[in-house]
Amino acid sequence: MMQQYQSIKKEYPDAILFFRMGDFYEMFNEDAKEASKLLDIALTSRNKNKPNAIPMCGIPHHSANMYISRLVKGGKTIAVCEQVEDPKQAKGLVRREVVRVITPGTVLDDNLLDPKSHHFLVALYFGKEQTGLAALDMSTGLFKVTELPRTSADLLRDELGKLDPKEILIPENSTNGNEAHPPMLQGTDYFIQPVEDWTFHHSQAHRVLVEQFKTKTLDGFGCEGWPAAVCAAGALVQYLKETQKSALQHITSLSTFSTQDCMMLDQSTINSLELVQSSDGQRKHSLLGHLDATCTPLGARRLREWILKPLIRLESIQQRLDLVGHYREHLIERNDLREQLKHIFDLERLLGKISMSTCTPRDLIALKNSIRVFPDIQQMIERCPLPAMQAISSGWDNLESVYQRIDERIEDDPPLNIKDGNLIKPGCDEELDRLKAIMKDSNQAIANLEAREKERTGIPQLKVGYNKIYGYYIEVTKKNLDRVPDDFIRKQSLVNTERFISPELKQYEAEITGAEEKVQAIEQRLFHEVRQAVADEGTRIQAMARCIGELDALLGFAQIAHQHNYCRPQMNESDVLRIQNGRHPLVELIDPNQPFIPNDTQLDCNQHQVAIITGPNMAGKSTYLRQVALIVLMAQIGCFVPAEEAEIGLVDRIFSRVGAQDHLQKGQSTFMVEMNETANILNNATRKSLIILDEIGRGTSTFDGISIAWAIVEFLQGPDRIGAKTLFATHYHELTELERLFPSVKNYNVQIKEWNDEIIFLRKIVPGGADKSYGIHVARLAGLPEEVLKRANEVLFNLENSEYDEVGTPKLAQPQPPAAGPQQLGLFGESPSPLVQKLKQLDLDNLTPRQALERLYELRDLLKNG
Ligand code: ATP
Repeated sequence: MMQQYQSIKKEYPDAILFFRMGDFYEMFNEDAKEASKLLDIALTSRNKNKPNAIPMCGIPHHSANMYISRLVKGGKTIAVCEQVEDPKQAKGLVRREVVRVITPGTVLDDNLLDPKSHHFLVALYFGKEQTGLAALDMSTGLFKVTELPRTSADLLRDELGKLDPKEILIPENSTNGNEAHPPMLQGTDYFIQPVEDWTFHHSQAHRVLVEQFKTKTLDGFGCEGWPAAVCAAGALVQYLKETQKSALQHITSLSTFSTQDCMMLDQSTINSLELVQSSDGQRKHSLLGHLDATCTPLGARRLREWILKPLIRLESIQQRLDLVGHYREHLIERNDLREQLKHIFDLERLLGKISMSTCTPRDLIALKNSIRVFPDIQQMIERCPLPAMQAISSGWDNLESVYQRIDERIEDDPPLNIKDGNLIKPGCDEELDRLKAIMKDSNQAIANLEAREKERTGIPQLKVGYNKIYGYYIEVTKKNLDRVPDDFIRKQSLVNTERFISPELKQYEAEITGAEEKVQAIEQRLFHEVRQAVADEGTRIQAMARCIGELDALLGFAQIAHQHNYCRPQMNESDVLRIQNGRHPLVELIDPNQPFIPNDTQLDCNQHQVAIITGPNMAGKSTYLRQVALIVLMAQIGCFVPAEEAEIGLVDRIFSRVGAQDHLQKGQSTFMVEMNETANILNNATRKSLIILDEIGRGTSTFDGISIAWAIVEFLQGPDRIGAKTLFATHYHELTELERLFPSVKNYNVQIKEWNDEIIFLRKIVPGGADKSYGIHVARLAGLPEEVLKRANEVLFNLENSEYDEVGTPKLAQPQPPAAGPQQLGLFGESPSPLVQKLKQLDLDNLTPRQALERLYELRDLLKNG
C-alpha cells in the first residue's frame, strides 16, 4: 500500500495528499508533519518503534471539508485520493486515484466562499506587448478575459485589486530564479501558482478553449483578436482539467472586458474612498456595505462589480437611473418584488455545484424553489412601462423545463445525502416503486411471519429481530428450545436465548436487503440524470442569474434612495459638477444626534476648475472631498445621490489621494507613497477626470511641501494644462495666493466660530481662504500638556516673524512671551483685558441712555491709556 501511496504522491509533490483508507483520510511523511501542525491533530506513526516508522496523521472522511477549508485558508493545495473500487470486490489492493485537487482558487465549499463576492482564479500571460488576464469564478462559472499594455504594472495591479484573486497562475518561466512572484507582482501577497509554460502556448490554449466551449473558433466570444488573453484563458482551463478531473460543464462561455469600457479606478482611490472595505478592513462601513440593500447574493456580487467599474456611457447610466426612479416612487411594487427575490438562492453557485457533481438533492430543490418565483417576478416587471426594463424583461426565461425536470423526480424535502435514500418521488420508475413497496411492506410481512411462527411452534415469546451484523433472526428463550422446529437453523447463542433463521425468513431477508441496494442504485441513477439535465441548461440558468442580480441591485438602489432621501442626479456630457446641499452618505449616518451639515459644490473646466479648500484641522475638509467624489461615483453606477440637487457631467476617472495609507510593511515611506500616487494622477488624469487631493506635501518639510503642492496646482490648472476638475484641501495658507494668479483657481474655507473659549466647527464650505490655522488649539482639545502648548505658541510666533535673528541664531531657541506680539488666534486660556472685564460688568438693561454714553467714553479712555 505504501508503494501505491508513493507512486500517487510522486504525481502531486506540492500538494498535501489525502489518502483514503476506509473511513479515514491518512497523510504520511512531510504531509503528515505539516498537516498535523496546521490542523492541530495528533501526529502518530505507522510501524511505530520500528526502523521504518513513517509519520502519519488522519482525519475522519465525513469531516474532511472542515479540515480542507482550514488548509486551503492557509494557502495549501490538497489532492484528494479516493478508493475507486469497492473494497469487497477488489482483488488484492484497492485501486486508488486522485479525484480532485483543491487549491485556494478552486474551492467550492460553502465554508470558504463569501456569498457576497466572487472567488476568482486568475491566469496571467505576459506577451510581448500585452499582458493577457483571464479570471474565472469556478463556483459560479463566470469567466472573463482582458488584455492590458505589457508595460503597465500599475494597471495590472489595479485590475487585480478589483478582482481580488485567491490564486494566480503564471507561466513557470515568468519568475526569475528563486522569486515566487514575477517582477510585475513583486511586493504583493497573492497566492502564485506557476504552471507549465506549454499550457500558455497559443495553439494549445486555443484548442483547449474551443474544445471546452464546443465551438470552432472563439469569434463568438469576441476574443479572436486578443491572443494574450486567449493564452491566459486556455492555460486556466487546462489547469482546471488537471485539478478538477470532472466535467467543467458550467463553464460555457467567455466574455471579454475592456478596461476602457468603464471608469478606471486605481487601487489607492478604491482604498481612500473606502469603496468596498473601510480602513478597518470591514465591508459594512464601506460604500458597498452602505449601498447593499440587496436580497440575494447574486445582487450583492453584481453591486460590488458596479461599484468597482462605474459606467461612462450616458445612456446606460440613464437606464439604471430610470429604473431606480421608478421603483423609488412605486413602493408597493418594489416591496413585492423584493419579497419574491428573497426566495431566490444563489443560482450561480448552485449551478457550479450541479455542474461539478458536488451537488446534493437539496441543492436541486433550492434551485427549483428559486425558479418557482420567476413567473411572479416576470408578471411584476412587465408592469413597469419603462424602456429600460426591456433589457431585463426581454431576456427573461422562466426555466420551466428545468423546474419540471426537478419537480417530477426529486422529493420536495429530500435528505442531505444521495446515499440516505428517499430522494426520488413515486411514479418515476416502476422497478423503484416495486422495490420500495417490498421494503415498506416488509415490516408488516415480518410481523405476520412472527405471528405465524408463534402459532406453528406454540412459543408465545418467539420474536423476530434484526441487527446489522447478523441480519434477521428468530429469537427463542432457552427454556423453549425443545419446541424449535427442524427447519430453524441456529445462527447465534446468547446467555438466555438462541437465535435462528428459517428458510422463509431468509428469503425475506434476501429480498429486503437486495431491495435496499437496488433502490439506492436506481435512486442514484435517476438523481444523476436530473443533475445532468439541469447542468445541460447551465447557460440559461447563468443568464437568469445575471438578470436577477441586476434587478436586485437596482431595487436595492431604489430602497436606499427612498430610505435616505437621495435625489436623482442630472447626468450630461458637460464639464459641470454642481451639487446643491450634498452630504457624505456614510458620515451623515454616524450620529443621529449630530446633524450633518450639507454643502454645495461648483466645479467646471473654466472659472471653477480648481477649488483650494483651507480650514482648521477637524473642520471637515476630508469629509467634504470624499463626499464629492462619492456622489459622482454613485451617480455613475446609476444610483441616486445624497444631495438636494446634482448636475453631473460624466467623468472618465476619479482620482483620490486622501488620508495616509500605511505601506510601511511594503518598504515605502508615507511620503514616498504619497508622491507615487500623486505622480500616477498627474500622468494619467485628463480634462474629463475628477481629482481630489488632501494635504499633498504634508509628509515632508514645510517649504518642500508648499513648493510641491504649489507646483502641482499650477500643473493641473488651466485649459492648456491637465485642466481636470480638482478639489485640493490644504493647511498651507500660502496656496490661497494661487487664486490671484490663475482665473481657474478658487478659494474656499470651512467655517468655524469662536465662542466662549471654544471652537465651533460650522462645517460650512464658504468662498475665500482661511488665513489662520488652529492646529495648536486642536492640540489643546486633544489634551497636550499645557507646557507644550505654551512653548508651541512661542515657537509659532518666532516662525511667523522669521526663522533667524539678525546674527543668524535660530529664534526657535529663544523663549518669547506670548503676549509680546501677534500669535495664533487666541481662542481660550488668555486672561481677559480690563476693557473686556469692564464690558462684561455692564448691566445694559438698567442703564439710561446718558449713562450708556458715559460708559462708552470711559471705555474709550481706558483703551487710549492702555
Ligand atoms: P484634518 O485636517 O485634521 O484631517 P479635516 O478637516 O479633514 O481634518 P474631517 O476628518 O473631514 O476633517 O472631519 C472631522 C470630523 O468632523 C468627521 O469625523 C465628521 O464626524 C465631522 N464632520 C465632517 N464634516 C461634517 C459635516 N458636514 N457635518 C457634520 N459633521 C461633519
